[in-house]
Amino acid sequence: MAPNTRSRGRFAPSPTGDLHLGNLRTALVAWAHARREGGSFIVRMEDLDRVTSSEQHEQRQLADLAAIGIDWDGEVVRQSDRFDLHRDAIATLRRQGRLYECFCTRREIREAAQAPHGPGEGVYPGTCRELTTAAAAGLRDSGRRPALRLHADGAVVHIDDLVAGRYSGIADDVVVERNDGVPAYNLAVVVDDADQGVNEVIRGDDLLPVTPPQVVLHQHLGLAVPVYGHVPLVLAPDGTRLAKRHGAVTLADLAVRGRTPAQVRSMLIDSLEVGGDAGDLRRIRRTPWQLRADQL
Ligand code: GLU
Repeated sequence: MAPNTRSRGRFAPSPTGDLHLGNLRTALVAWAHARREGGSFIVRMEDLDRVTSSEQHEQRQLADLAAIGIDWDGEVVRQSDRFDLHRDAIATLRRQGRLYECFCTRREIREAAQAPHGPGEGVYPGTCRELTTAAAAGLRDSGRRPALRLHADGAVVHIDDLVAGRYSGIADDVVVERNDGVPAYNLAVVVDDADQGVNEVIRGDDLLPVTPPQVVLHQHLGLAVPVYGHVPLVLAPDGTRLAKRHGAVTLADLAVRGRTPAQVRSMLIDSLEVGGDAGDLRRIRRTPWQLRADQL
């Protein structure tokens, strides 16, 4: 970031349910970091999945953010209102010859990725990368509809992460358009962050592995790459990723147990071990925060 560039951060939840303690904790960090130097902060609803997203969830998420003291600048934007912008970017990548059709089902990808010589879970095994026109036509005739994937060419990307430090990863051939024609997360997040002038992306470290392809997408689209900060997740007492099934994990759940939003905010800030300044990324605890049963 250039020395005189004001920071502009964001929180970009998917409005598919109430925010849990992990989401709220990351939001606090992103907000406090943007605000500590007088920067701006926006909230964007990542509602690409129209089946699970709802306006009611949006309103509850915004109310919860406000309840723990987070404020934001301007209107909250919805990704579903911005498909034209996303499609322009997809058209650009297509013109550049960087996309290919992928007819794989989720199951096929999982099985090929985990096969003895497969790339491992979560990585696209490359099945459709060199598909012939005839093979593609055959799959189409069988009723399959293709998603569009990025030819990432195994690019190795290095990131100087504000929290995780130096991180290097291989950019996967991520989906940029789903097979129902809806722009995919990895494409939309890049286009929207750039369009909204976001220059710092502070989010959960479960998204570190998709940061390399996102950087590659920024570069191909001629968009400035933001600075990243990936905050370790909150874990449930059983050591797994925090989820609804773990009990009182949302502000509403905790309110029933007599915990005020202010108390939850303090607990979250304490958990960061930053001495009160949630935006002090150099000091943030570098390991996941595992809750005790009596905290839920
Ligand atoms: N919408 C994503 C989520 O809720 C976060 C995207 C991001 O921060 O880049 O997991």
